[in-house]
This record gives sequence, structure tokens and C-alpha cells, in this order.
Amino acid sequence: MEKIEPRIRMTSSIFLRCYLKQQKLLFGKELYLSKEHSIKNDAQFSQNSSESKNTLEQYRISICLCKECNLGETRKNFVYGTGDPNADLMLIGEAPGKDEDLKGEPFVGRAGELLDKILLAIDKKRGRGVYIANVLKCRPPDNRDPLPSEVNKCEPYLIKQIKIVKPKLIVALGRIAGKTLLKIDAPLKEMRGKIHSYNGIPLIVTYHPAALLRNPKFKKPTWDDFQWIRDQLIKYQ
Ligand code: URA
Repeated sequence: MEKIEPRIRMTSSIFLRCYLKQQKLLFGKELYLSKEHSIKNDAQFSQNSSESKNTLEQYRISICLCKECNLGETRKNFVYGTGDPNADLMLIGEAPGKDEDLKGEPFVGRAGELLDKILLAIDKKRGRGVYIANVLKCRPPDNRDPLPSEVNKCEPYLIKQIKIVKPKLIVALGRIAGKTLLKIDAPLKEMRGKIHSYNGIPLIVTYHPAALLRNPKFKKPTWDDFQWIRDQLIKYQ
């Protein structure tokens, strides 16, 4: 039997629900179905999805040997990004840590496990409606903050990834990711609770999952932020 991607299944079911609601309003209990229309929609979605997957992968191949800054000399792995190439939600962290450097994938350590739980709470997961990347693709030594010169070299890669994925909403995880993307030196509490714009895409800043591990009192406000993020995503559908 042909396997149907979860995202395609979800789009179909949302489409079907809206269609049935509209039909009920217009025609009561009479049901009119256009088979041709729905088959065309799904086929189009599937084609767009694999196009952006290929483009993302080609782009990764073109930049993964980068030596534009010194981090290219010390990294174990280039940490490109992971997830759904057609995600509505893009999460952006600061830079890979030790675990990510070893594995070549963002947010795979303890903070990443917590992030997966947060995503599950809003019925999302990496690979299903979510794409995850960092401002920097390589680990800074001893997890120090990214240097402005490193950000200058690396940010164009992120901008290109965003252009390919075309998320409806970006969430910056933590103060460093927020201030780096927004080019403002503000405390997290000033950046939270607002809808900013990053190259024309709505951007929300929330706590970094590692901050929640250090200080559980941030869990409740993070939970509130993610409820809000889920509501925003529904609005942008
Ligand atoms: N912290 C980040 O900001 N990014 C990661 O990928 C892991 C930890």
C-alpha cells in the first residue's frame, strides 16, 4: 500500500473538514464531491514538498564544508538543520552545543529532549510541521556566545533556509537567538510577548529550553508562549 506522509494526511483532513462544513451550510444534507479537485490538490502538495526537500538538501551540500570563520576549524560536524521542509513553524536556537556538534543535528541533548516534549504539547514534532535550525551552524568553543563576525558570516545560510522552507512563523529560542536575529540588545522579557518581523516573517521570542532545565520557574511562561504560538499558527493557516 502506498505510504501517505502525515503532513499530507493532515492537510487533506483539514481540507475535508472545511469542505464538509461549507457543503452543510450550502446544501444541508446533500453531499457533492469533486474527486478530481482533491486529487489535484494532494498531488500539488506532494510535488511542492519534495521540491523544497531537494532544494534544502542541495543547499546543505553546497555549504557544509564552510570555513568562513574559525569555527569551521574546530567543529566536529556542520549542524545544518532538521525537520519538515514545508514546516509552518521554524524554531531557531543560538548555536550547536557539544551533543549537536557530535551528532550534526540541532537540539539533540537534554535541552532538545525538553523541546520535543514542548512541541508534543502543541501537537507538533520535528519533521511534522516544524523545522529546527540555529543562528550558527558550528559549535563555538566552550559554548560561548556567537561573535558578531561569526553571525555575519553564518546568518545568510539561515536566511536562505528560511526562504526555502517558507515558515509562517519563526520562534527564536532564548535571548541570544532573539537579539541576534532582531539586531537589538534587549533583555528577553522585553522581546517576549510581541510579534516581531524577521525578513517579513512573524517572529516570536521565548525562553531557551536549556534555561528551563536550569530554572523550572520558566516552564509556566514557556508553556503560555507555546499555547500562543499554536494559536498564531492556526490563525496563519
Ligand atoms: N542550544 C542551541 O541553541 N542550539 C542547539 O542546537 C542546542 C542547544
